[in-house]
Amino acid sequence: MSHSDTGPVVVTGGGRGIGAATVLLLAQCGRPVVFSYASNSNAAQALTDRVKAAGGTALAVQGDVANEEAITTLFEVCRKSFGVPTGVFANAGITGPSTRLEDLEPADLRRVLDVNVIGTALTVQAATRLMSTRRGGAGGAMVLMSSRAAALGGGNEWIQYAASKGAVSSMTIGLAKELGSDGIRVNAVAPGLIDTEIHAAAGLADRLATKTNDVPLGRIGRADEVAAAVSWLLSDAASYVSGAILDISAGR
Ligand code: NAP
Repeated sequence: MSHSDTGPVVVTGGGRGIGAATVLLLAQCGRPVVFSYASNSNAAQALTDRVKAAGGTALAVQGDVANEEAITTLFEVCRKSFGVPTGVFANAGITGPSTRLEDLEPADLRRVLDVNVIGTALTVQAATRLMSTRRGGAGGAMVLMSSRAAALGGGNEWIQYAASKGAVSSMTIGLAKELGSDGIRVNAVAPGLIDTEIHAAAGLADRLATKTNDVPLGRIGRADEVAAAVSWLLSDAASYVSGAILDISAGR
């Protein structure tokens, strides 16, 4: 895919999974990328090596997306290394344990909301302060990571996760209205069942295999299939798209 916008992009949670596939694709499109990760420095290093081998540029920054100082550092690394970003992918997210809501520990509930909701909001805040044309920036585009779970509800799996993604979808709608006059488009992607390690991390190693029959196209999605949509939404090819929540779920 060609990108007429070749400005830098910040990606949160880019070390593995959907974030990593997006970092790689954006870098292949000629955009310098700064991405954060939580703790897996081996995966982050492997990704930066892969990007370099593909002729692209990516920098990895360890930092918890729920921590405002870490978010500030992430954007500062981008500004100092490549300039103010013109694209942001607020992707970092966790599910928390798979359990009925009545059995969920309050600390686990709070952590999911902290990472998925507060972390996304902090990312948007830092990005807006740099990118807004009202503040002297050049504008650009943001993509927030929602999920099909926001509409499906997560019952019997992870209601806390579904609710957090519902909040991300609401933020997308509001931010598209609020930031249009700042020269910033805001959209979300809402993937369905995508083959990453997030399912096993929640103790549901066989989740994807047992749910394949729920998918009208009859297969599980790949991270690069989500990355393609994110890359498009961040590009000038999507110049009149804002406030969209794009299901990437093969009809599920
Ligand atoms: P993943 O394979 O578990 O990768 C998550 C990435 O986010 C990792 O690089 C991880 O860092 C990073 N991360 C986690 N918590 C973080 C934090 N507090 N601060 C900074 N980075 C953090 O997950 P994924 O499946 O690619 O999911 C990515 C996003 O897509 C999430 O928001 C998820 O909810 C959403 N999503 C996924 C699916 C799916 O089926 N996979 C469907 C819908 C939506 P480390 O590598 O250091 O651990």
